Amino acid sequence: MRQLIYLLGAALVISGCTQRNKPASDFSDFSNQFIDSLWKYHPVWASGSGYHAYDSMLPLPDSITRNQYVAFIDRVGGQMKQWNFESLTPAEKTDYQLIDRFLASSVFYLFEFKSYQWDPSEYNIGGALDGAIANPDIPLEVRLRNVSLRLERVPAYYEAGQHSLRRISREHTLLAIDQNKGLSYFFTQMFPDSLQKSSLSDVEKSLFRERMSKADKAIQGYITYLEDRLKNDTASLRDFRIGKDLYLKKFQYDIQSRYSADEVYAKALNRKNELTNEMYQLAVTLWPKYHAGEALPKDTLTVISGTINKIAIHHCERDSLLTTIEQELPKLAVFIHEKQLIDLDSTKPLRVRKTPAYMAGVAGASINSPGPYEKNASTYYNVTPLDGYTNEKAESYLREYNDYMLSILNIHEAIPGHYTQQIYANRSPSLVKNILGNGAMIEGWACYVESMMVEAGYRQSPEMQLIYDKWKLRECCNFLLDYNIQVNGWGEKEAVELLSHQAFQETAEAREKYKRATLTQVQLTSYFTGDLEIKELRKEMELKQGNKFSLKSFHEKFLSYGSAPVEAIRQLMLGSN
Ligand code: ZN
Ligand code: ZN
Repeated sequence: MRQLIYLLGAALVISGCTQRNKPASDFSDFSNQFIDSLWKYHPVWASGSGYHAYDSMLPLPDSITRNQYVAFIDRVGGQMKQWNFESLTPAEKTDYQLIDRFLASSVFYLFEFKSYQWDPSEYNIGGALDGAIANPDIPLEVRLRNVSLRLERVPAYYEAGQHSLRRISREHTLLAIDQNKGLSYFFTQMFPDSLQKSSLSDVEKSLFRERMSKADKAIQGYITYLEDRLKNDTASLRDFRIGKDLYLKKFQYDIQSRYSADEVYAKALNRKNELTNEMYQLAVTLWPKYHAGEALPKDTLTVISGTINKIAIHHCERDSLLTTIEQELPKLAVFIHEKQLIDLDSTKPLRVRKTPAYMAGVAGASINSPGPYEKNASTYYNVTPLDGYTNEKAESYLREYNDYMLSILNIHEAIPGHYTQQIYANRSPSLVKNILGNGAMIEGWACYVESMMVEAGYRQSPEMQLIYDKWKLRECCNFLLDYNIQVNGWGEKEAVELLSHQAFQETAEAREKYKRATLTQVQLTSYFTGDLEIKELRKEMELKQGNKFSLKSFHEKFLSYGSAPVEAIRQLMLGSN
C-alpha cells in the first residue's frame, strides 16, 4: 500500500497512526473489529446488511470522505502484516484473503475505476432511507429520528455528489434520473404515513417535514442538473463502456478467478459451441415426436428453436406460478436425500411468497436470505406474480419458464442452490465471509448444482436435457455479451442477434439484458466463471481421492468454507486430506 501514503500526503498518514487499534489477540477478533470499523465508513451498507448502529449517519460523497476511507484502508493493510498467514487455520486463511482482496479492490475502485466521477447513479439516497426505515424490530419513532438525521444531510450529499462528477455516461445518467425520480415515493407516501402513525412530538414532526422538503428539493435540483447536462453539455459525455484495460482488472478484483477474463472468454465460446451441437442432436431426436409428418428444416438453429417452442407449451397456469414452485421444493429435497448428494438442513425455514411491493421491479424470482445478524430468520423465495401482465406477456413469460425451466429455476434459487448455500455459509461464525462474500462463488454454486442435479437424473428426459442446455447457453452468452459490449464495442444490434438468434431468447428479454450490460460490468461473467471453476475443482478432487471420492462429502466440504472465492477454497481443499 505504499502508493497510498504517497498519494495522501503526510497529514492523513499521521492520523492513521494515532487511530491504530489495540492489536487483536486472535485473528477472528481482528476480522470482527475490521467489520465493525468498516461499518463506520459505510453506514448505508451497514443498514442494508442488518447492522443498525449507524442508521442516522450519512457520509458526504466528497474528497474528504474518500481520503478518510483511504486512510482506513491503509491502516488495516498495516495491521494485516502482524499475522503470519501460514499459522492461521483454514477458515482464518480465507478470511485473511477476503480482507486482503477487499483492500486491494477498494484501492482499484478509488484510484483507477473512479466511477464516482462518471456514474451519476452512485448518488441516490434510496438505500440510506430504506435501510433506516425498513426494520420492523426497531420502534418506529427511533427509525424516524434516524431518517430525520439522514434527511438533514441530503442537500449537502447531492451537492458533494454533483461536484464529484466529471465526464458522465449517458446511460448511467438516464439511470440516475430514473432512480432519483423514484424517490418521491418516500416523500409523498411512506414518510407522511409513518409520521402520522408515530408518536413523535409536533416539534419533531415539523422538523422532519422541513428536512424532507429540503431533501426533496435537493433531489429535484440534482435531476435538473443531470437533464441539463444531457441536453446542453453533450461534449462532456463519455462512453458507458469501460474498455479492455479496466475490464481485465475489474474481472480480477470482482471475480477473483485463477484465470484472466480472456482465458475464460475462450472457454465460454467453446462451451457455447458444444451446447449448440448437443442441442441439435437432441432436437433431431425429438423432432418426430413434436412435429409428426413435418420434414426436418435445413437450418440447425431452426430445428432447435422449433423443438424448444413445442416443449415450452407445457407450462403452469398464470395464477398457479407460486403454488407450482412451492410444490416442487419437497420433491427436490427427497431426490437429493435418496441420491445422497448433500445434507439439507430442514430446520431452517424456506417460505415461498409474493415479491413484496417495496422490491417491485425485480422481475421473476429471487432469494432473500437472512443476513449475518439474523441467522435464524426465514429465507424467502420471492416470486413476482403475473397479475399486472397482459395475456400475451404472461404467455411469453410462462413459455420461458415452462415446466422444465421452472425446475431448473428452483434448483438454482432454492434447493440445493442459493438457499442451501446460504445455510452452510451462516454456519461459519465469520462475519467477513458473509459480508465480503464472493459473487462468483455464490452464483457459481447455484449454476453448478443445476448441472449436478441433471447429471444425477432429476426429471431425466431429452426434453429436460434440451431446456437445461438452453439455460446453460444463456450462462455462456452472458459472459460473451458482457465482454463484447464492454471491450469490443458491441451495441444493441449485435447483443440482440446473439441472444435471440443464437441463444433462443425472446427479443424483449434480450433487449433488457443488453440494457443491464450497459449499466454493470463483469457481474454477468460471474455465473459461467464460478460454475466452471467449481466443476474443475471437482475433477481435481476426483483425481486426487480416486475411489475414496464422495460427491456428498465434496459438496459439504466445499460449502463449509463459506462464500469465499472458488480459487481460495480450491487451494485449501487440494492442500488438505
Ligand atoms: Zn400457454
Ligand atoms: Zn443466482
